[in-house]
Amino acid sequence: MDNDGALAVRTGVVTRRDLLFALPAAGWAQDVEFLCPMDPEVRSKGPGRCPRCGMRLEAGLPDPLEYRVELATLPDRPTAGRTTMLSFRVLDPRSGKPVVVFNEIHEKLFHLFVVSEDLTFFAHEHPERQADGSFQLPIVLPLEGMYRVLADFYPRGGTPQLIAKSLLVGAGPKVSVPAPPANMGITLRLEPAQPIVGQRTMLFFDLSPAEGLQPWLGSWGHLLMASEDLLDMVHVHPKWEYQPEVAPTVQFNVIFPRPGRYRLWVQMQRKGLVNTKWFDVTARSL
Ligand SMILES: [Zn+2]
Ligand SMILES: [Zn+2]
Repeated sequence: MDNDGALAVRTGVVTRRDLLFALPAAGWAQDVEFLCPMDPEVRSKGPGRCPRCGMRLEAGLPDPLEYRVELATLPDRPTAGRTTMLSFRVLDPRSGKPVVVFNEIHEKLFHLFVVSEDLTFFAHEHPERQADGSFQLPIVLPLEGMYRVLADFYPRGGTPQLIAKSLLVGAGPKVSVPAPPANMGITLRLEPAQPIVGQRTMLFFDLSPAEGLQPWLGSWGHLLMASEDLLDMVHVHPKWEYQPEVAPTVQFNVIFPRPGRYRLWVQMQRKGLVNTKWFDVTARSL
C-alpha cells in the first residue's frame, strides 16, 4: 500500500471499514495474527508496536462500528469569551448503553480537537474522564459562530473512533487569544508541490533547530488537517521510527479527499514546549 494509512484516520470509521474491505481477502485472515488498531493494514506475526504510529499491535480486531457520541454543553447555549463545559457521552451502537471503559491512544483516553468555522481558533485538548464514563472539558471559545469538534477515542471492545460534532456559540465579550508559544521554526515542503486529490502527498516539516525534539503523546508529531468547510478532518502521525538526530525533518503522509483549501495544524514538542503551527494548502483534482 502506498497511501501509508492516511485514509484510516478520516472522520468516522466508514473509511476505516472501506479500508478493511479493500484488503486482499484471500489468505489474509490466516496469515495475520497481530494488527495495529489505528492502521489495520499494518500486520505482524508477533506482538510489538506499530512502526507507523507506535501503538501496540493487537491479536485480531472487532468489526469496525461507529459509536455514537452525545455532546452536551453547560450552559445549554455557549457564549463566546466565557467558559463552556463540554460533556461527551459515548454510546455503544449495539446496546445503546454508555461506554465506560476506554483504551488509551497516544497516552490519553480521549483526544479532542476544536476548530472554529473561520479556522482561526484551534485547540487540541484532553477531556477528563468522569466516574460515569463521560468526559468533560471546560473551554473558553473566543469567537461567535460554528465550531467543529473532533473526538478521538478507542472504546474497549470496539475500534478507534474519530467522531465530529458541531457546536454553535453565541455572541459574547471580546477576548484576546494569545499566539501559541514556540521555540523552533517549522516550515513546510510538499511533494508533489500541489497536492492531487486521492493521491498520496508527502508533507515535510523542516525544523530549526530540530535538536531537543521529543515525542509528545506517544508520537513525534500530531497533525490535524481540516477542509475549509470543516467537513473533512484528518488526524495523522509521522512514522514512529523517525530519528531527530539524523534528519531535522518530520514527514507525514496524507491524502486530500476533495479539491479545495485545507488548513493543517502541526504540533511537535521541543525541550518540553509544544509548538503549534498552521499552514494552508490547496489540493486539486487530477
Ligand atoms: Zn491528544
Ligand atoms: Zn495525534
